[in-house]
Amino acid sequence: MYFYTSLFCITAELPQSQETLRSGDNKYNMINTIAHEYKHVLDFLRIRSLINYGFNYYKISQYSDKNRELRAIEYQRSHNSYNNTTTKYKKTIDRYESIQK
Ligand SMILES: [Zn+2]
Repeated sequence: MYFYTSLFCITAELPQSQETLRSGDNKYNMINTIAHEYKHVLDFLRIRSLINYGFNYYKISQYSDKNRELRAIEYQRSHNSYNNTTTKYKKTIDRYESIQK
């Protein structure tokens, strides 16, 4: 279930990702976008491993959609690629963050 939620999240973000990728021809923009999506995968793997260890899905502490986005944004900002992304890209991330709050 979480897997599908996660997939939906990534699909829903494609327009945003495309915007960020259009916003510059800097390869770090793309690397940083992938870092954002990677954090969603890490969150998904955490849930899956807890389920594999026998935890009840509905009793596992989970993040809301907005919190998952904020975690991914925090992660991508801490990624090495972020400092080399374009100014326009960083503004797009700031805008994306502001709509999550
Ligand atoms: Zn996201």
